[in-house]
Amino acid sequence: MKLGRSLRFELSRRDLLKSALVSTGSIAVLAAARPPKRILIAGAGLAGLSAAYELVQSGHQVTVLDARDRPGGRVLTLRDSFADGQYAEAGAETFGETHNFVQHYVRSLQLETIPAWSYGKLASLVFRDGRRSPSSSELSRKYVLPAIKEIGDPLSDGWPSTDLLRQFDRISMAELLKSRGASPEEIAQLQIVYSDSWDNGTAPDSALCLLRDEAIARKGASFRIRGGNDQLPKALAKSLGGRLHYRTTLERINQNNKHVRVTVNTSGRRSQISADYLICAIPFTVLRSIPVSPAFSEGKQRAIRELSYNSVTRVYVQSPTRSWVTDGLSGYAATDLPVGTVWDCTEGQSGARGILECYTSGERARRLAGLPEPERIRTVVENLQRVFPGVNYEKAVSIAWDADPLVKGAFAWFKRDQMATLLPHIARREGRVFFAGEHTSPWFGWMQGALESGNRAAHEVNES
Ligand SMILES: Cc1cc2nc3c(=O)[nH]c(=O)nc-3n(C[C@H](O)[C@H](O)[C@H](O)COP(=O)(O)OP(=O)(O)OC[C@H]3O[C@@H](n4cnc5c(N)ncnc54)[C@H](O)[C@@H]3O)c2cc1C
Repeated sequence: MKLGRSLRFELSRRDLLKSALVSTGSIAVLAAARPPKRILIAGAGLAGLSAAYELVQSGHQVTVLDARDRPGGRVLTLRDSFADGQYAEAGAETFGETHNFVQHYVRSLQLETIPAWSYGKLASLVFRDGRRSPSSSELSRKYVLPAIKEIGDPLSDGWPSTDLLRQFDRISMAELLKSRGASPEEIAQLQIVYSDSWDNGTAPDSALCLLRDEAIARKGASFRIRGGNDQLPKALAKSLGGRLHYRTTLERINQNNKHVRVTVNTSGRRSQISADYLICAIPFTVLRSIPVSPAFSEGKQRAIRELSYNSVTRVYVQSPTRSWVTDGLSGYAATDLPVGTVWDCTEGQSGARGILECYTSGERARRLAGLPEPERIRTVVENLQRVFPGVNYEKAVSIAWDADPLVKGAFAWFKRDQMATLLPHIARREGRVFFAGEHTSPWFGWMQGALESGNRAAHEVNES
């Protein structure tokens, strides 16, 4: 985690020279490989791809493998499901102007961005207890924004301090708000706006996890990649050429003091690959069932076993017109219905049609994921029409990230007390095995985190 900061743009030139990194003016790059190493990278999401990209540039011999038949993992643009050439993001959707790793790769791969969430005069809604009302930030200003301020900058050196962990990681958001005088009614209102899983029985989320996410999301203006976010991993993958192998699943990891040897399964055929180092850029939810010999340290094993991931189910409904805009609405609505939070994901796209995206997390996501797709869509459309009565259902598609066997969840989302107990172990190397992936970054849950972790792991291997 600490190394993550050493790769930030804010580094002075002197710091860069001290850490044997050379600045391109916007992002730190690795010094030339001396000598070149054989590096295997498991996972061609943004973490594995960015690690590979940087290591290839510095002259290492790199092989990347991924179990899927495409790059990008959780950056997936749904293109074939809708009319008019419109598209929607199944995974990562927007990023901020301060997300410097994303901005860097978007610029260097010559991709264009469009502004996100720029609603101008269009109004957003809250739908609760069967009634629509204009969305208001009064309660957020009273209870949540001061807490976000108190946790400071999640990217500052040494964040989170022991003091922050003591204050904010041991309690859930509901407990935090209660301790600050919020009534049960106010907590219920805020929960609709922020998260489904504030207080789900015995294992509520850490308040610090949620506040950190809000702090990251609120940093400046937001953007999408024009034409779809999947262009970013596709461009990184293209630069790797034949070094990238699809339909190849990591099944076993062995290491000794000379090399790493992994067993892989390529479309049903097993083989072994040896390398000097492995960068493991696959989610812990998947790594937890991969045999490792000799076993990782106790702390790492616990982190791999216990790190919690949020559940997210999304349903996209394409309508022949954007009737909500005609009604003076942005299409954004926080609701207490099975549709979760709704927004217009065709903002900035051409065409008369529009797609409303219904985003559920936590318990609501798991309930929707449990339904067969036709019923899932029917449930969502019926409820969506209560919020936006003019919406006509033309086409709909859904994605339940819990059901994807190569991630089994959406993104790392720490339970109460997990940031204090698991964070120190998550990114730490184990012999010749290094770790990347959003879950290993202070920006977990974001593309920025995946890219930052890829850069950090590449730097660690290069220095090794
Ligand atoms: C619903 C949702 C909404 C999101 N919204 C945003 C957002 O608005 N903005 C934002 O910036 N970020 C968002 N994110 C987060 C962002 O998508 C992730 O942080 C990032 O894409 C993760 O990249 P990664 O490389 O760490 O993991 P992944 O993209 O999951 O890549 C890991 C790769 O490993 C492969 N793999 C898994 N197991 C094996 C195995 N055994 N062998 C070989 N390969 C394997 C997988 O196929 C996958 O390609 C969202 C994510 C989700 C799911």
